[in-house]
Amino acid sequence: MKHYDPIFNILYVICVCLTLTAIARPFLTQRAIPAIASSHFHPSGLPVASIDPVSSGLAPADIRRTALTFDDGPHPVYTEQLLDGLKERGVHATFFVTGEHAELHPDIIRRMHDEGHLIGNHTYSHIQLTASNRDQFKNELIQTNEILYEITGEEIQYVRPPYGSWDKQLETDLNMFPVLWNVDPLDWRTANANRVAKAVISKVSENDIILMHDYYDTSVEAALMIVDELMLQGYEFVTVDKILFD
Ligand SMILES: [Zn+2]
Repeated sequence: MKHYDPIFNILYVICVCLTLTAIARPFLTQRAIPAIASSHFHPSGLPVASIDPVSSGLAPADIRRTALTFDDGPHPVYTEQLLDGLKERGVHATFFVTGEHAELHPDIIRRMHDEGHLIGNHTYSHIQLTASNRDQFKNELIQTNEILYEITGEEIQYVRPPYGSWDKQLETDLNMFPVLWNVDPLDWRTANANRVAKAVISKVSENDIILMHDYYDTSVEAALMIVDELMLQGYEFVTVDKILFD
């Protein structure tokens, strides 16, 4: 009668387990590949899985959108500083420029366009629409659209009327959309960047359009503070077309 030591039984079981694992591995790996390939990314650049409420505490519903808009530029110094800061942070904004300033700094307009910002019309000379200057106002919009088209090769669809004065008939006449604002920190009135940033951060909510001016160094400083703080709060910065039509 042969005698088997119990150690052989244990070794046998280990061998069977290792063999089964080796056979099963390719199937397990194949199943994992489509799961990775089919995962998609949120516009924020974060994989969807990483904004799961369980894993990060930040649900997709918590991503709030807002749009920074800058009027009156381009300014030869401050607009470039702003573009540098936005580029570092991967943020897009909307610039409502005057035809007059666009003619002086076409290279900055081209940079805005190349870096993915939206460009809108703010009239040629910053004219305010009144009861008596409708034709001149309309001509300034047309002239500015032509200047911007010449530089960017794109039709301009959005207009920010200076001081908010607008005539709805112009939307049909020119096929342009007016873009007003929800948050106005009156950045042109103070040289205190902190105060401007606080005014925006305390008021902003989802889908708000923030009005600022890239014509002052403090506005640029405040804008970048706003971006840094609101991104920490889960905001995503988009161009105004995304707020108005998406
Ligand atoms: Zn303006």
